[in-house]
Amino acid sequence: MIRETLTIAVDFDGTIVEDEYPRIGRPIIFAFDTLKKLQENGHRLILWTYRKGSALQEAVKFCEENGIIFYAVNCSFPEEEFDSSHSRKIHADVFIDDRNIGGLKSWGEIYQQLIGGDAPARPKIQKKGLFSFLK
Ligand SMILES: [Mg+2]
Repeated sequence: MIRETLTIAVDFDGTIVEDEYPRIGRPIIFAFDTLKKLQENGHRLILWTYRKGSALQEAVKFCEENGIIFYAVNCSFPEEEFDSSHSRKIHADVFIDDRNIGGLKSWGEIYQQLIGGDAPARPKIQKKGLFSFLK
């Protein structure tokens, strides 16, 4: 378990949600649960995505609706204004991105590595059969 506070840059398409850019794909299992737990543990989350303009706003809104408000979006800190005298690379301790060499670890593995313990269990979804109303 990591006790220090980390700044964690997280990609959106293919990382938090399935990549259906410019549409928003379905959330990847445990992504939001893990991100919430990281914030609860005091880590800073930065959304670090190629999206811009309305596509970016939609992604930010989608994350908000799923309980995640980022510390900063596509920058190192909220007040940062892009200036070409600075590097475009943001300052982060860890990057979570599906373009990583080797691909994206599962969010369960990310949870274990950054938080420790097992990822939260999902309640089993009861599938309703066609005739379940007869029971
Ligand atoms: Mg991606």
